[in-house]
Amino acid sequence: MALIVQKYGGTSVANIEKIRNVAARIVETKEAGNDVVVVLSAMAGETDRLIQLAQSASDTPVEREFDALISTGEQVTVTLLAMILNKMGYKATSFLGYQFKILTDKSHTKARIIGIDTQKPMDALKKGHIVVAAGFQGVDNEGNITTLGRGGSDTSAVAIAAALKADYCEIFTDVDGVYTTDPNIYDKARKLKKITYEEMLELASAGAKVLQQRSVELAKIYEVPVYVRSSFTNDGGTLVTKEDKDMEKETVSGVTYDRDQAKITVVHVPDKPGIAARLFTPLSDQNIVVDMIIQNASVDAYTDLTFTVPRKDIRQCQAILEKVSEEIGAEAIQFDENISKVSIVGVGMKSHAGVASRMFAALASEGINILMISTSEIKISCVVESKYTELAVRVLHDAFGLEHKG
Ligand code: ADP
Ligand code: ASP
Ligand code: MG
Repeated sequence: MALIVQKYGGTSVANIEKIRNVAARIVETKEAGNDVVVVLSAMAGETDRLIQLAQSASDTPVEREFDALISTGEQVTVTLLAMILNKMGYKATSFLGYQFKILTDKSHTKARIIGIDTQKPMDALKKGHIVVAAGFQGVDNEGNITTLGRGGSDTSAVAIAAALKADYCEIFTDVDGVYTTDPNIYDKARKLKKITYEEMLELASAGAKVLQQRSVELAKIYEVPVYVRSSFTNDGGTLVTKEDKDMEKETVSGVTYDRDQAKITVVHVPDKPGIAARLFTPLSDQNIVVDMIIQNASVDAYTDLTFTVPRKDIRQCQAILEKVSEEIGAEAIQFDENISKVSIVGVGMKSHAGVASRMFAALASEGINILMISTSEIKISCVVESKYTELAVRVLHDAFGLEHKG
């Protein structure tokens, strides 16, 4: 008998019929003698709808109210699933973030989990209940509802699995595993049986939405085995796990893209000590994550600084940077939202030379211009014009021979 956490994403709970399908899977796991904790997302499209609704009420909604609104989608799915399970003759109880208690910090819309109270869910499990927890939401120490960022139910599931010391965590979604690239944009993508936490972390940070980045960070820290599987088939999924000796060390194991970034250039900045800190500190104070940064060589004691930020934060950046650039004497600020980032990831890169040059040559062969480059130990990312995103992914996938054979 095991304790299993199962998370179902938006497409898996998109309507009552699909929630019944989810209930059948849960019952199967329970009947096999396991304790089951379920974590649900909102119905597909519901969180987007709620965000639009908030924006129609105010173009700058108060964050506290915004989180309280956009978290309601999950309240609908968990209660419906608990009702269905009860009707099927199983004891099931739904828990919202504050009931469970998923304690977070106060950063609304991107809160981080700081503790999970296991008392109530453990009591419910002991009484034979199926625990059904709302993903994506938490509560701060003053009782305000918080949310964990888009795709945050993955993080709820892994954090709950870690807190309850579950045997493993299953992420059920609309694809049957982690692929060498998004199978919805390239049909030659190949399913991976296993992937290391490190590689998955880089894929997620480079935009592969199949798992939220924070969920992989937690899985790695607490060594939670995570299976990514389809809620519509019984195919074996992908295991996200520690690196082991037998795992193949592919030079490149995946190609990914991120369309949610924007590029900002601060033009003609005096090249003096402290300038970068003056520009980036106010952004980090607002929890804006700056990703790639390039500083050009200085000419006549002036330089240009180019960097990327999440596109959703661009307005906030504009307000902050206009003020700072005046203070530091920059000439202008340019914003470019027509970009995306394509990346290649692989642990084998550590020990192989020439990976970057192969990437650049592959992009050049299709006439794709590279606007920015960044590298880490196991990842190389290039910013390109957004119209080239899919072409860039395909050409890189082919260049590194990642396609499924046959
Ligand atoms: P859910 O609503 O279940 O959380 P998401 O839409 O957040 O589902 O994540 C699943 C999607 O992730 C897939 O439909 C697929 O388009 C996308 N995806 C991106 N990169 C990959 C990849 N490397 N492997 C599998 N899926 C990927
Ligand atoms: N419902 C939330 C979202 O759409 C959380 C999730 O699906 O993981 O982002
Ligand atoms: Mg998701």
